[in-house]
Amino acid sequence: MRTEMAPLESRITDELRLIPRWSIACAIATFVAAQYYFWVLLPQLRHTSSHIPLVLHLYLTTSLGALLALYFLMVGYITQDAPRRGMNVRVWMICVIIPGGIGAVLYFLLRQPLLASCPSCSAKIEGDYHYCPHCSYQVSGCCGRCYASTRITDLFCTRCGHDLASDHPPERLQAFVSR
Ligand SMILES: [Zn+2]
Ligand SMILES: [Zn+2]
Repeated sequence: MRTEMAPLESRITDELRLIPRWSIACAIATFVAAQYYFWVLLPQLRHTSSHIPLVLHLYLTTSLGALLALYFLMVGYITQDAPRRGMNVRVWMICVIIPGGIGAVLYFLLRQPLLASCPSCSAKIEGDYHYCPHCSYQVSGCCGRCYASTRITDLFCTRCGHDLASDHPPERLQAFVSR
């Protein structure tokens, strides 16, 4: 139910699926254009053959092309990722477009947790909530003594050792109902 419980590979696949087609197309076009510029246009403009070794030349042009392509993928990703975290897309687009990648680094440092929907009232709730703030539906397990988050398979609180069964949590939040 909660995103943290999905295995790492499926989480990465889900994240990659967010990248819209237009940004993938832009990324491919940018990569091809960069290669065309370095291998076809630039040698013609200089009228002299490059003195850089071929392997190094290949490495530099591929890296630069990949970097430019990555930029478009990231812009596409952020247009999809920001709304589901309740973040302002326009403000972040402006930050990310700033050259040097500082805006993108800031985005990943400062981004808000994913918003989920309450199964009971459909209100938008943050991923680390234990209860829905609108209808008090319990969305995730927590310890009745210290209020730490608990997992569905836990029998005792990992922070204070409290017996979680004594809190009588709803059955959907317990993996082992009867012991
Ligand atoms: Zn609710
Ligand atoms: Zn506890």
